[in-house]
Amino acid sequence: MPAVVQVNYICRMRATEDGYRHKGLRRKLVETVRGKGITDEKVLAAIENIPRHFFLDSAFDEVAYEDKAFPIAEKQTISQPYTVAYQTQLLEVKPHQKVLEIGTGSCYQAAVLAELGAKVFTIERQKKLFDTNKTFQWIKKYPSIKFFYGDGFEGLPTYAPFDKVIITAAAPFVPEKLIDQMKVGGMMVIPFGSGDVQVMKRLIKQQDGSVKEEVFDNFSFVPMLQGKND
Ligand code: SAH
Repeated sequence: MPAVVQVNYICRMRATEDGYRHKGLRRKLVETVRGKGITDEKVLAAIENIPRHFFLDSAFDEVAYEDKAFPIAEKQTISQPYTVAYQTQLLEVKPHQKVLEIGTGSCYQAAVLAELGAKVFTIERQKKLFDTNKTFQWIKKYPSIKFFYGDGFEGLPTYAPFDKVIITAAAPFVPEKLIDQMKVGGMMVIPFGSGDVQVMKRLIKQQDGSVKEEVFDNFSFVPMLQGKND
């Protein structure tokens, strides 16, 4: 018997049917997220439109619309819908804006950004997760999402500057290169801190290259790690 059994949670079997039951559960989820304080109707509509159960293994079909994070492959998680809504609301995405996302994971957050009309550039450091999204047929309905395998600390200098940057892993410090790749007036939403709990910050880039910082609520993310993992 192996000492450690590696379980791959995502994509052994991905659901492709979106029935009335799922749609009903999604409407309830939207009300839950609204009840927790999310007010941006466009963000709420995106959550209502996106079949979250497609982003998880079919074993999670019954629970996919609970307001909870769930495991995906490589010991990573699909973020809680409230957290996705919270970060997206802070980002104030407008159609056609260029958004850099660090931590593709299940691609659910990227889909929410694409629903809002953003051009999404999303980076994942785990090769397996990156490869999984290549075979995710449904996500191809958003040609505005571009996938990259790499280290998010480096960003994507070739595609800079970005209007917005969203980090979906716990950042131990503010990645300087990502600030450099933002437009003046651009925003970064970042769960900041290396302990069990992070504080959500919004950084707005000023004319002189410095950032104005706003501090919001506490959350708990998987860590943002340096380098790639193949
Ligand atoms: N946005 C995702 C959340 C995934 S959890 C979703 O909607 O499902 C955070 C992800 O960040 C993990 O997949 C992890 O592998 C990735 N990650 C951590 N550090 C990273 C880095 N330096 N560059 C790119 N991705 C990173």
